[in-house]
Amino acid sequence: MSASSGSQHNCTHGEFTRAVHLPLPPPVNQRSMGLPVWRTAAFAFADAQEYVDVLGGQRDGYSYSRLANPTADAFAAAVAALEGVGLEEEVRGEAFGSGMAAITAILMGFTAAGAHVVAPREMYGGTYGVLADVLARFGVRTDHVDTTDPAAVSAAIRPETTLVWAETLANPTMTVADLPSLAGIAHRAGALLAVDSTFATPAVCRPLEYGADLVVHSATKYIGGHSDVTGGVVAARPELAATVRHFREHTGGILAPDEAFLLRRGLETLPLRMARQCAGALTLATALAAHPRVARVDYPGLAGHRDHALANRLFDAGPEGRRYGAVVTVTPHAGSSNGSTGGAEGANGRDVGMALVDGLRLATVATSLGGTHTKVGPVAGTTHRQLDPDALTGAGILPGAVRFSVGLEDPDDLVADAVAALDALG
Ligand SMILES: *Cc1c(COP(=O)(O)O)cnc(C)c1O
Repeated sequence: MSASSGSQHNCTHGEFTRAVHLPLPPPVNQRSMGLPVWRTAAFAFADAQEYVDVLGGQRDGYSYSRLANPTADAFAAAVAALEGVGLEEEVRGEAFGSGMAAITAILMGFTAAGAHVVAPREMYGGTYGVLADVLARFGVRTDHVDTTDPAAVSAAIRPETTLVWAETLANPTMTVADLPSLAGIAHRAGALLAVDSTFATPAVCRPLEYGADLVVHSATKYIGGHSDVTGGVVAARPELAATVRHFREHTGGILAPDEAFLLRRGLETLPLRMARQCAGALTLATALAAHPRVARVDYPGLAGHRDHALANRLFDAGPEGRRYGAVVTVTPHAGSSNGSTGGAEGANGRDVGMALVDGLRLATVATSLGGTHTKVGPVAGTTHRQLDPDALTGAGILPGAVRFSVGLEDPDDLVADAVAALDALG
């Protein structure tokens, strides 16, 4: 019984049979401009032998969409192409239902009981949580160090270290990872360097070019770009990609076909959006750094940022100028602009940050980042709520810090909105 037999009309069949075996369209010979959505859980085979061979891996083919799906594969292959451009070795992509599913596949795929991970002191909270709440229970130890200090990373390496973790651009300080030196340290220790490049995207930086072994994205952010889909993706050389794929096959964290379609479509405008959003972020950062009510602006595009030179080495320059990411962290002075006590370390720093957020009219108070709309939020009470004041200070974050995820609005409109909110602080 062939897969297409359902399309044969048989008037002797009953109503229910006919409803289930509706005709399917014939195969289409022309290429589709848009990516087809294989919205199916299961695939049918020509005969029993094909079924056996595909499941046994003797023949290429799809069988079940928890294992693999052509739309998800097409999205992942597109990301791999963008991350691996210019590399001689092949890069494969694997798609996941969220950034955390992708991150977990790497963390679980490249550790085992007794293994050790070196991770940033300041890292995405979800990743920290998997290391602390999940891997720790399975005998995997993590040391969190200042990954901007190569000596600290080297000192943390142990014989059982299998993975060094980094974030291309760290939230919310926009610290830049020194990828070539981290790759050197990891490889000398026989470990892999995995890089969460969500804040950068391949339109800003491609970590594999600098020696990273695995790059991972929350595609929910800039890759999707419209705040309407959740997804994740890993890109790596084939044998490493196979390890995360096997973990995904076992645990079921694959991306759904409809989400894969949206994320693949998002990639077509990724450079356009990133160019525009990064340029807007630079305009906003430059304008706000000059505002008397502002104590500090964290943005690597500013000459005063600690990693400006490193960003110039690692990040792409487009026709519109170098891209430094599209997240800007702004900390207002805790006191009033005249007679300011300087900095926002004061007890009311946090309140001033909240007041700045509430004074904005154009920027939306919202979680997440990377979409078309500019989003804003107070750092201390939201993305970094788990950190007490000492831990915040240790991470280089002032209590009044406000994070802007710059969208596609006219930069002048964003500057005017922020200046009005800062002026209103008094
Ligand atoms: C959002 C985010 C994640 C997690 O991705 P989800 O798609 O929300 O699961 C991981 N890392 C970074 C840097 C993020 O911003």
